This record gives sequence, C-alpha cells and structure tokens, in this order.
Amino acid sequence: MTNRTFTMIKPDATEKGHTGGILKMINDAGFRIVAMKMTHLSSEKAGQFYNVHKERPFYSELVSFMSRGPITAAILEKENAVEDFRKLIGATNPAQADEGTIRKLYAASIGENAVHGSDSDENAAIEGDFFFSRLEQF
Ligand code: ADP
Ligand code: MG
Repeated sequence: MTNRTFTMIKPDATEKGHTGGILKMINDAGFRIVAMKMTHLSSEKAGQFYNVHKERPFYSELVSFMSRGPITAAILEKENAVEDFRKLIGATNPAQADEGTIRKLYAASIGENAVHGSDSDENAAIEGDFFFSRLEQF
C-alpha cells in the first residue's frame, strides 16, 4: 500500500551544502515528494516538534541544534514509506549506519545526523501536518 512519511534535512546537512545530494538519494530510492519547504525553526517550534523527547538528557542540545539554521521539510510518498525511509537513512548513530545510507554518507554524529525520518504512519501524519497545511500536501 502506498503511504507517506515525513523528513527534515537538518541544519548540519544544510550548512554543509548536502541538501541537493540528499534529495537526489530520496528521488533515486523511489520516493515522490508531495510537499516541501525550506524554513528555519524557532527554538519554541523545535521544542514542540521534539516534545516526545523532552525528558531525554539530550533534549536541550537537540532543540538548540535544530533551531540553529535552516532545514528542508518534506512529505514523501512510496509503498511502505515509513519503513523504507528508515532503511534509507540508516541508524541514528552514523557510526552504526549501513553503507550507502544517508546518515553513513552525510551525518557527523548521533546528534548532528543530517536527516529526520518518521517512526510510524501515525507520527508521519502528525509531523507532516506540523509543517504543511492540507492545501500544501499534494
Ligand atoms: P531518530 O532520529 O533516528 O528517530 P531518535 O528519535 O531516538 O532518533 O532521536 C531524535 C534525534 O535526537 C536524533 O535524530 C538525534 O538528532 C538526537 N539524538 C538522539 N540520541 C541522541 C544522543 N544520545 N545525543 C544527542 N542527540 C541525540
Ligand atoms: Mg525518532
């Protein structure tokens, strides 16, 4: 069944000029971009997005990282989108990411790991709606 996931190209990858390379990998893996924008999260917005992690020790580090520069947010459509995109991005810690994954190629550390990918269909819908109105989802 065709479904959707949500991604962000994080500030570290944006700063290093990897946006185009990451979008090409996403395209080449068969995902269709159905919404996309470049934006800069305030620390308040980044804190809301990562609210599920607010008790984790890295939360404040994560919020300041995610609000330090522009990101590219997108909704992606493909058969089995959530699971296949998690495979394409690789493990949270790039040291453990498989060869050929986005994080293996572009991530610097467990915190600054280049991309976000939703972990369930339910969260993909919540996260997509956080950034895009229904009129902006094609
Ligand atoms: P993922 O992004 O792979 O789903 P998590 O949902 O566990 O990973 O964590 C969300 C984000 O928080 C990670 O992508 C990363 O940017 C950051 N993060 C996770 N673990 C750590 C850590 N131990 N130290 C610093 N930042 C972390
Ligand atoms: Mg996660």
